[in-house]
Amino acid sequence: MIPYMSDPSNIKIPDSLLPADGRFGAGPSKVRQAQLDALVAEAPTYLGTSHRQATVKNVVGRVRGGLHNLFNLPDGYEVLLGNGGTTAFWDAAVFGLIETKSQHLNFGEFSSKFATAAALAPFLGDPEVIKSEPGTHPEAVARPEIDLYGLTHNETSTGVSMTITRPEGASGLVAVDATSGAGGLRVDASQFDCYYFAPQKSFASDGGLWLALCSPAAIERIEKIAASDRFIPEFLNLKTALDNSRLDQTYNTPALATLHLLASQVEWFNENGGLEFSAGRSDRNAEVLYSWAEQSDFATPFVAKPEERSHVIGTIDFVDSIDAAVVAKVLRAHGIVDTEPYRKLGRNQLRIAMFPAIDSEDIASLCAAITYVVGALAS
Ligand SMILES: *Cc1c(COP(=O)(O)O)cnc(C)c1O
Repeated sequence: MIPYMSDPSNIKIPDSLLPADGRFGAGPSKVRQAQLDALVAEAPTYLGTSHRQATVKNVVGRVRGGLHNLFNLPDGYEVLLGNGGTTAFWDAAVFGLIETKSQHLNFGEFSSKFATAAALAPFLGDPEVIKSEPGTHPEAVARPEIDLYGLTHNETSTGVSMTITRPEGASGLVAVDATSGAGGLRVDASQFDCYYFAPQKSFASDGGLWLALCSPAAIERIEKIAASDRFIPEFLNLKTALDNSRLDQTYNTPALATLHLLASQVEWFNENGGLEFSAGRSDRNAEVLYSWAEQSDFATPFVAKPEERSHVIGTIDFVDSIDAAVVAKVLRAHGIVDTEPYRKLGRNQLRIAMFPAIDSEDIASLCAAITYVVGALAS
C-alpha cells in the first residue's frame, strides 16, 4: 500500500454526505427509534414485571403469532424461543434435534460452528461437512444416513446468501441458521423444518434470545429424542423450550426489553406487507450498494456471483492502493460505525449491513461518503 498524501485524521466528510443514521453493523444492528419509543411508552407497566404474568406473556404471544404470519407458516408449524441466542441453540440442537448424523454446509465462520458443536458430541456420529471457498456456498447432498441438514441462509462473515431448498430426495430434517437472514431474505417455509435466528440482526432488537420456527417433523424429532435415554441439560432441552413456548413463556427469565423491541419490529413488517415489505427494503439497499460498487473504480462486490450476493450483508473489496481499514476509521470518526470487515476473513474490504431497518437513502449517503473519503485519501 502506498503511503497516503494526506493525514486521514484531517479528512472532514461534508455534513450533506452523512447518513441520517450511521449504524451499519452486522449485529447488534440499527434499532429504529419507533421501536424504542414504543418500549419507553409501555415501560412503566411492562419493564420490571413478572415474565410469568399476562403483560409479558402477551408480548411473547405477539412475537410468536407475528412470526407465524410473517413467515406464512403452514399448519402444524410452531414458534419456539429460549435464552442464549443462536450459539445456545446450536448446542440445544446437538442435544435435541440431531438423531445420529448431520450434514453441514461450511462457507464461513458462522456456518462452521454448528458442525464443530456436532463433532464434539460423543453420542453422535461424525458429521459430514461440505465446504466451499469464502465468497461462495456449497450445495447439500442428500444421503440416506443423514437425519439433519444444517444450512445457513446468510453467511454473515462473507456476505453470501443461499436459497433455502430441501436437498432433492432428502429424508432428514432441514435446519437453517437464519440469524442474519430471517426477516430480510425471502424463504418458503415448506422448504425447512427448523428456521432459527436471534433478534439482533434483521429484527433490530437485542441479542441473547433464540427463536426457532419448527415443522411438525422437527417437533416430532424433539419429542422423540427427549423421550430417549440421552442426557440433555435442562437449559438446552428443546422439549422444555417447546412446553414453555406453548405457554408464551421461556424456561428462565428472558430480557423483556429485547422481546418488546422484537415484537415492534415484527409488527412493523406485518403491518406494511410482511416479508415482501421487509425483504423488499433489503433488496433496495442491496441494489444501491452493489451498483455503486460496480460503477466505482476502487471497489467491487466481494461475492462474484450476483445471485449469491446477500441483500442483508454487503462485502465490498477495495483496490490495494486504498486501505479499507483507514476508510472505516474515518467513517467511524464521523459517526458511521461498524463498517469494518469480519476480522478473520482478512480481506481489504468493508462489510455493510442492509437490514430492513436501514433506509436506502442512508446506504446511498454511505456510498457517497466512502467515495469522498477515498478521493480525499488519494489527493
Ligand atoms: C450473528 C450470527 C450468529 C451468532 O448469533 P448469537 O445470537 O450471537 O449467538 C450465528 N449465525 C449467524 C449466521 C449469525 O449471523
